[in-house]
Formats: sequence, structure tokens, C-alpha cells
Amino acid sequence: GGRFWSRFKRFAPTHGAGNYRYQRLSNDIVKGLKNNEFVLYYQPRIDTMTGQMIGAEALLRWQHKIFGAISPVQFIRIAEDTNFMIPLGNWVLETVCRQLRQWRDAGLPQIRISVNVSVKQLLECDFVDIVQSLLRQYEIDAKWLEFEVTETSILPEETLPDEAIRQLRALGIAIYLDDFGTGYSSLSWLERLDVDGIKLDKSFISRAPHHASSTQIVRAVIRLAHQLKLIVIAEGVETVEQLQYLQAQACDEVQGYLYSRPVPVNLFEEYLRGGRFHVAVQRLVSSHLS
Ligand code: C2E
Ligand code: MG
Ligand code: MG
Ligand code: MG
Repeated sequence: GGRFWSRFKRFAPTHGAGNYRYQRLSNDIVKGLKNNEFVLYYQPRIDTMTGQMIGAEALLRWQHKIFGAISPVQFIRIAEDTNFMIPLGNWVLETVCRQLRQWRDAGLPQIRISVNVSVKQLLECDFVDIVQSLLRQYEIDAKWLEFEVTETSILPEETLPDEAIRQLRALGIAIYLDDFGTGYSSLSWLERLDVDGIKLDKSFISRAPHHASSTQIVRAVIRLAHQLKLIVIAEGVETVEQLQYLQAQACDEVQGYLYSRPVPVNLFEEYLRGGRFHVAVQRLVSSHLS
């Protein structure tokens, strides 16, 4: 009875601002930051041709005191709605910079870490200053930090983070459009924003190479991006077949469960030391919700 219901509720979707869970989570973000309930996982990014790890994406996880593991799919949206995205995003940035510094001090190889940033963050007037002072404080070369930006429907269509992107790239930080192809104006963003590359959304990859139109779209987008001199990263690569297809299309980088799930920092450090990927790591925190 009760146990089933509470388990069901734990996985029930968030419906919006009127919802108890939504209110509770939005109230708890700052507290969660203080109580160290947030943690970053890292997922390798692989050079498609060499199979070498050339970077990693930092992905946020929240171990909530009452609700347990919560997917960023849920709480990032809440954080954006409520403006808690700013302290949360700053925490992510600082944690990554501190981590890059620690790895360097420990003599581990330097790699690029990509951080998901909300358009809300990019539009804050002091965002570029914050990034710059973190790089200075931790003495990090900007080339090790990259940003992934996802289109969001929470903004008016004409609001573009073009100025911040221009300044960040001038600092030497590469910018990628995330989940490319799923937004309502992907092509228009590509036309209007100067970026370094795109991350082809995993929904296209998951249907390739068996579903004919997804496969054609993947091929055409890679070609289009290369004509625009952009780097293409395929996300959600789970099978050898998908990898081979992407190799044949000269996709630059791949990321996905085929190589590794996002892993906690101690496991990721084994990767940096040259250890084997944990392909079969059990479903980690909250991945069943995403
Ligand atoms: P994203 O940036 O597009 O991240 C990729 C998502 O795909 C991650 O989900 C990752 O765990 C998952 N994934 C990776 N490989 C595979 C695969 O082979 N198959 C499948 N099915 N999934 C795969 P996750 O970690 O749940 O993150 C979801 C989204 O939450 C992210 O999508 C990103 O938009 C957002 N997010 C995560 N961390 C942050 C953050 O620090 N800041 C911001 N603003 N957003 C974040
Ligand atoms: Mg991303
Ligand atoms: Mg995204
Ligand atoms: Mg994505």
C-alpha cells in the first residue's frame, strides 16, 4: 500500500509550479548546495577515429535528503524557473575549475572538461567576469574549459546569448550547441550564433543506423556542420553499429554508454590514469529517470 505509493511518487514527473514536489525542490536547492548534496559525474568524450579519451562532460547529480536521487532533467528546469540556476551553475563552474587544478597538481593528464550552462547563466551580466575570475583564481588555461548550451523555451525567441558567447570564445573557451536538432530553432541558432561545434542529440543517434530518416538526418547534419567548419560530437552512442556509422560519416567525437556512463570522480581519475572504462557500471544515480 503506502510503500508502493511512495515509490511511485518518487518517480512521478514534476508537473509545474503548483506541485508540492516542485515547490519543495526549488526551496531545497540552496540548502542542498550547503549540505553537499550535489555532485559532479564525468562522462568521457572520445575521438571517433583514435578511440582516445580527449575530454569529458561534467554532469550534475543531486542526492536529495528525502527524494533520493533526482535527475537533472527535473531539477535544472526548476532551477531555471526560479533563478537558483545562478548559484547552482556557479557551484558547477567552481567545482570543475577546482577539479582541473587538483588533477594538474596531482600530475594527472590535462583534458578538456565541458560544462553545461543554462542560457539563463549566459544572460547574467556578470557571467563572463565570474568565469574569468575562476580561471584566474585556479590558474586554469581557458582551453581546458568548454561550454555546452541547450536551447530553452523559457526565453523569448529574440533573446540570444550572442554577446556572452562572443566574449567567452575570445577568452579561449569553446562553445557547443547541445541537443542539436531537437530545439524549436536549432538552425536559426546555428545561423545567428558563432560557436565551435554542435552536439547531435541522442534521439537521432538512438534511431540510427536502422531508422532510415534518422540516419539521413545524422549524415546531413554532420555534412552541414563540417561545411560550416564546426566540430560534431554525437551523444548517446550505445552500440558498435552506431559508432561505425559515425566513423563512416567522419563525426569528430562520440560520447555514450558504449564507452562509459557518467562516473563519479574517483572512477574518472582511474580513466585519467589510463585505466579501462567501466562499460558495465550498474545504472548509476538517477540515470533511470533521464
Ligand atoms: P545533456 O547535456 O545533453 O547530457 C547528456 C545526457 O545523456 C546525460 O543525462 C547523460 O547521462 C546521458 N547519456 C550519456 N550517454 C548516454 C547514452 O549512451 N544513452 C543514453 N540514453 N543517455 C546517455 P543526465 O546526466 O541525466 O543529464 C540530463 C541533462 O541535464 C543534460 O543533458 C543537461 O542538459 C542537463 N544538465 C546536467 N548537468 C547540468 C549542469 O551542470 N548544468 C546545466 N545547466 N544543465 C545540466
Ligand atoms: Mg551536455
Ligand atoms: Mg542538454
Ligand atoms: Mg543531450
